[in-house]
Amino acid sequence: MSPLTDQLLARISSDGPISLADFMAECLLHPEHGYYTTRSPFGTQGDFTTAPEISQMFGELLGLSLAQSWLNQGAPDTFTLAELGPGRGTLMADLLRATRGVPGFHTALQLYLVEASPNLQEQQAKALARYDATWVDTADALPQQPLFLVANEFFDALPIRQFVRDGDGWREKRIGLVDGGLGFGLGPAAPQPALEHRLRDTTDGDLVELSPGAAPILSSLAQRIASHGGAALIVDYGDWRSLGDTLQALKSHTPVEPLETPGEADLTAHVDFEVLCSVAAGAGCAHSKVTPQGVFLERLGITDRARNLAAGLEGEALESLIAAHRRLTHPSEMGNLFKVLGLTPADIAPPPGLNA
Ligand code: SAH
Repeated sequence: MSPLTDQLLARISSDGPISLADFMAECLLHPEHGYYTTRSPFGTQGDFTTAPEISQMFGELLGLSLAQSWLNQGAPDTFTLAELGPGRGTLMADLLRATRGVPGFHTALQLYLVEASPNLQEQQAKALARYDATWVDTADALPQQPLFLVANEFFDALPIRQFVRDGDGWREKRIGLVDGGLGFGLGPAAPQPALEHRLRDTTDGDLVELSPGAAPILSSLAQRIASHGGAALIVDYGDWRSLGDTLQALKSHTPVEPLETPGEADLTAHVDFEVLCSVAAGAGCAHSKVTPQGVFLERLGITDRARNLAAGLEGEALESLIAAHRRLTHPSEMGNLFKVLGLTPADIAPPPGLNA
């Protein structure tokens, strides 16, 4: 049994069942036993592989799209370049390398990394040692000035609550004690104002998810972009609207039972892009169409970039580049499941690769 299981059992015995969001928050960011606080989860040695870890092309193209949006908005001479949940720092390192040739971009930028895990902050500091970076815990701490931001697989790591429809109310899925171990149960039926709009497209027994942390973070970014200018590129897996249980636990690239390995497996859930878009619009931002990652990367010229990189390669290195291009773009791999959302101030076109 993991040390975190013991602590969760003790907490539930004394205080009663906890929500899935409380469970996820403990598993991911517990100061001693949390997944992101104690582990280096990325890559073939870790539990999962993210797009920037698959190929440098990902961070390069996101960087060029953001830099073009910066130019289109008059190249403000001081701005925040930020990333939410930068993992190993790979995406930002690729983005910064690719934008070196954009006149004025590097002198104008102030680099901010929003990262909750001290362990990952250290790894990011190594990857970005040649740059002057500031770490903050929350998006609220970003300066009030133009903001150009990327977030890849950040929103899927935020804790979710799950609700099962019961008449015109909802029963929350909770984690309690079952036969002395951790088990799922349902709370009493109650109205949920945040799920009012879901009474129209669901019936009794349907499960819907809610990420309580997503809206405040998005609203904080959108407020900065709407008032000072800037753009955000948000890449994540999910759909316009989530329906059904999308909680996933991954350990060594294999799905595991979420309650069996607290703190030892990565926990994620699909992102509800409808919620992100409506919060952005409410804060005065324009948002792009939610665009499949493969389409976005093709529009930005990933195939030309891959050809260019391929010119110097042969054998295994060439095979691996071809495989990376396919993995990032092909609809049966990450190309369709992952979506890109762009935010800009009202009346400003989205960053290249996206349509309004
Ligand atoms: N963007 C990286 C890593 C994605 S994993 C990549 O694509 O490889 C999720 C990242 O978000 C990790 O760096 C994790 O520590 C961070 N994170 C998770 N929840 C967070 C929170 N509430 N606040 C700040 N960072 C968080």
